[in-house]
Amino acid sequence: MPSALVTGAGRGIGLAITEHMSRRGWDVYATARSDAALSSLGRLPNVHPIALDITDRSAISALAEHLPCELDGVVNNAGIIVNGPIEGLSLDNLVRQLDVNVISQIAVTQAVLPSIRAAGGRVVFMSSVSGLITTPGTGAYTASKYAIESLADALRMELRPWRIRVSLIEPGPIRTDMWADVLDDYDRMTAELSDEHRRLYASHLAGSRKLLGRMQKLAADPKRVTKAVEHALTSRRPKRRYLLDLVSRTQKAAIAITPTAVSDAALAAATTSK
Ligand code: NDP
Repeated sequence: MPSALVTGAGRGIGLAITEHMSRRGWDVYATARSDAALSSLGRLPNVHPIALDITDRSAISALAEHLPCELDGVVNNAGIIVNGPIEGLSLDNLVRQLDVNVISQIAVTQAVLPSIRAAGGRVVFMSSVSGLITTPGTGAYTASKYAIESLADALRMELRPWRIRVSLIEPGPIRTDMWADVLDDYDRMTAELSDEHRRLYASHLAGSRKLLGRMQKLAADPKRVTKAVEHALTSRRPKRRYLLDLVSRTQKAAIAITPTAVSDAALAAATTSK
């Protein structure tokens, strides 16, 4: 039975991937943080729950003990989003954003690569369209996804001698808690800004909030992601990048051919309230 490790499997995209791969007959080693998530994962067929905060370096050192010696895939999915204009970002939140979405993804990958190599397995990173396009107000998150794009590209070339495939999944908005809670999270971020930053960025904050509300309604079903992950784990020819829908492909193409001055103006206008 093939096996994969999925991080952040307790809810959202990670849970959808875990359920899907378990239905496909895979042994899924599924990490989560809460007891409730771990016990409901344990009720799924072929799913082995592992308690893991991916930022806990000593837990990462012990991770291989919970896994088979040969592992067919790792899906680095766990992630968070830190919103807000760069000038007002708390540096602790910026560090947390980069730790969870970048450094800890690499820590997990390093820990499991010997087992992946032993199985001739695959590495998958959950990136985002935000790893291809930067928008004002999401610089911390987009920086984390751009970083994982670059690290995954380097890793893919470095792992060629062992034919270990590395894929990036680049979803647009997907209906999970990340979007369900987006406006509350945004309001919390706004409340944490200084009075001065709230005043300076008032029209940007109002415009971004309105745009987030509109995008929330467009969020797609997590199934869109699970099919791409299955392809990355099982296809004879996995893609290096999976852009999942026409809107995302169009956005990527448009950004590539649009002069930066023009895209800057358009994206700034889209996130500014008149
Ligand atoms: P959710 O907010 O629904 O879930 C996030 C998951 O990450 C949870 O399982 C959470 O665990 C886990 N997690 C967060 N921090 C840690 C940590 N320190 N250690 C271990 N696990 C952690 O988000 P999504 O399912 O939407 O996002 C999953 C991935 O997909 C992320 O990398 C995100 O950037 C990416 N993505 C999401 C998109 C979307 O529109 N939803 C679009 C593009 C990419 P816990 O339950 O314990 O908090």
